[in-house]
Amino acid sequence: MRYLRAMTRRTTILPATPAAIASAAELIRAGRLVAFPTETVYGLGADATDDRSVAAIFAAKRRPTFNPLIVHVADLAMAEPLAAFDDRARAVAARFWPGALTLVLPRRADSPVSLLATAGLDTLAVRVPAHPVAHALLVAARTPIAAPSANPSGRISPTEASHVEDMPGLALVLDGGPCRIGIESTIIDLSAPRAAILRPGGVAREDLESVLGPLASAGNAERPTAPGQLESHYAPALPVRRNATGARPGEALLGFGPGPAADLNLSPGGDLAEAAANLFAMLRALDRPDFAAIAVTPIPDHGLGAAINDRLRRAAAPRPVSAAAEGAAE
Ligand code: AMP
Ligand code: MG
Repeated sequence: MRYLRAMTRRTTILPATPAAIASAAELIRAGRLVAFPTETVYGLGADATDDRSVAAIFAAKRRPTFNPLIVHVADLAMAEPLAAFDDRARAVAARFWPGALTLVLPRRADSPVSLLATAGLDTLAVRVPAHPVAHALLVAARTPIAAPSANPSGRISPTEASHVEDMPGLALVLDGGPCRIGIESTIIDLSAPRAAILRPGGVAREDLESVLGPLASAGNAERPTAPGQLESHYAPALPVRRNATGARPGEALLGFGPGPAADLNLSPGGDLAEAAANLFAMLRALDRPDFAAIAVTPIPDHGLGAAINDRLRRAAAPRPVSAAAEGAAE
């Protein structure tokens, strides 16, 4: 089904020329959905200040509305009216923006962002992307853009324009080539006195800790209420088996570094940034009906490896019944 859908695409894909970016900005201002490249993954963008536009994102992705969205802005000046920045927030923004770091901050009482985008929380997640096309779109749209990854909820994130599936309400896909980082942003919660990483991603923990000192981790008992840390996520249709020493009969093998001969290798030279950039595209490439499962060799857990392992852990997690049925049908 997935291949058929790709062949019968209706949504227009345009190279991200200045004219196409201007059209995309007009569509955003008119309340429509536009998929656009960032340095992490392709985003499904809508005007973050407009409830109906934001509602269209949740509908298009079939994303649960308790899972809040990241709001994208062109620069710090555009972020300040949305959320309350303290000294820590300013320090990490100065060091890592534009870039693959999302800050969860107290929502300002006068924040213009739709309450639906923040799932009714009193915090708001905000990021300044480093991609020139994303930046130009944000400048032209003159409004913050709420943008989760441009894929149906729970499935593999798109790292190329051609990966973006048709979704209801999607007006245009801007093609800016493959994503340089290829894995989602690191999300750090600065809304409480003790800073915590809610999701590992494109900025390594080690680099954040060099600015902020030791950080608490997500998903522990300390942060039971952080939403969106859904167990099954980033899932191909096939089952995923981690820490494999080789392929079992029928399995595809996804390798890392030197090791057993693999169908694809995330980075033969063992480079974690290269592996992160290849992860989603290679999972897609191996997600074929002629394989029974995707086995992945071990990935070191430092630097960007922590984000890769987080994605693989979720890809390998037991699927909710509805997602499993949907996966089987595709
Ligand atoms: P996605 O847009 O699919 O990359 O996912 C965005 C992630 O950001 C989800 O895991 C959300 O739960 C998380 N997020 C967004 N806003 C907040 C917030 N205010 N507090 C905690 N997590 C958030
Ligand atoms: Mg996503």
